[in-house]
Amino acid sequence: MNNPTTSQARPTLSEELRHLLAMLLAHDTTSRESNLALIESIRDYLDQLGIPSELIFNPERTKANLYARLGPAGDGGVMLSGHTDVVPVDGQSWSYPPFQLTEDEGRCYGRGSADMKGFIACVLEAVPRFQQSALTMPLHLAFSYDEEVGCLGVPGLIDHIQSSPDHPAMCIIGEPTSMQPVYGHKGKVGMRCKVKGHACHSAYAPEGVNAIEYAARLIGKLTDLAEPLKQQQDRRFDPPYSTLQTGKIQGGVALNIVPEACQFDFEMRYLPDTDVNATLDKLKDFAASTLQPAMQTVHPDAGIHFEMLASYPPLLTDPQSRFAQWLSEWSGSHDFTTVAFGTEGGLFDQAGVATLVCGPGSMDQGHKPDEFVTIGQLGRCCDMLENLRNWMVSH
Ligand SMILES: [Zn+2]
Repeated sequence: MNNPTTSQARPTLSEELRHLLAMLLAHDTTSRESNLALIESIRDYLDQLGIPSELIFNPERTKANLYARLGPAGDGGVMLSGHTDVVPVDGQSWSYPPFQLTEDEGRCYGRGSADMKGFIACVLEAVPRFQQSALTMPLHLAFSYDEEVGCLGVPGLIDHIQSSPDHPAMCIIGEPTSMQPVYGHKGKVGMRCKVKGHACHSAYAPEGVNAIEYAARLIGKLTDLAEPLKQQQDRRFDPPYSTLQTGKIQGGVALNIVPEACQFDFEMRYLPDTDVNATLDKLKDFAASTLQPAMQTVHPDAGIHFEMLASYPPLLTDPQSRFAQWLSEWSGSHDFTTVAFGTEGGLFDQAGVATLVCGPGSMDQGHKPDEFVTIGQLGRCCDMLENLRNWMVSH
């Protein structure tokens, strides 16, 4: 590629991009809702262009991933990927209607405009030009569901891609990075701990098993386990070490009843070279070998149970790799960085697809009321896709 299009703000949205973004924003795809209407709109759009899509449903068939490819058959090529679900607007005060496109002063407002329907709109808008080009390699499109609730939808999509005869070599996930190329983020494990005690009148507290107090000892252990994690630092991440924190707790009925049940949710966000299970096993060992025997001497049914809520692996792609250098050229930004939020990238990477993150808008606006993406950022994303298209013709 000799002449990458330079990043320049586009003052207005093209009609087609406006139409596509408005269509995507008009579907309320909050993760608890079905995304099928949106997925069917994308499928119909591709269908009109003569591009077949494959839908990969959840077991209840209420949600689906969409996978499509164009260009020549065979291994390799580039995958453009994004999630179709958005976070709730509950309890947020919006000055614009969240589920429709509102343009105001160079900004496009709406839930998901930054995270990450703006990117998907740019991709769809570019599809006809990719289709009309003599691509030397395939272009893959992969749109998932339930990313915002723990990357729950994308494994089915990855299984589908892996069982297909042709595999993409590279993947760009268009999460909002202000069009800065991103090579890494931490992994995350979210866990729930259920403590089952034994209730009795609080006047006879020693005859009961106090679930809240045992939960408190486990949470104290978590705080202790977080300390040594601070010693293992990697300055590429912020904060530069793995963290553990408890985010939610519930338990107890009344002050004069020894609580029978308490549960709390905690998470560990860990560096790429950290053994997350080593830390979790220490907590489980403490529960099983120290707390549980003491609980069961009072009542045999008492116990501690852990369940995993969600997890995604870390992402760490070599910023010196050829793919990373190409993405720098396509995006017009050589400032490679990491991000604090997670993506589906670690899962694609585990599946053998080299993955980087780069997309329009900023997570400063994501998940917040009056979420927006600027027309300038959408323009830069369109420029990146145009540079990618040129590269896929000439490479
Ligand atoms: Zn996102």
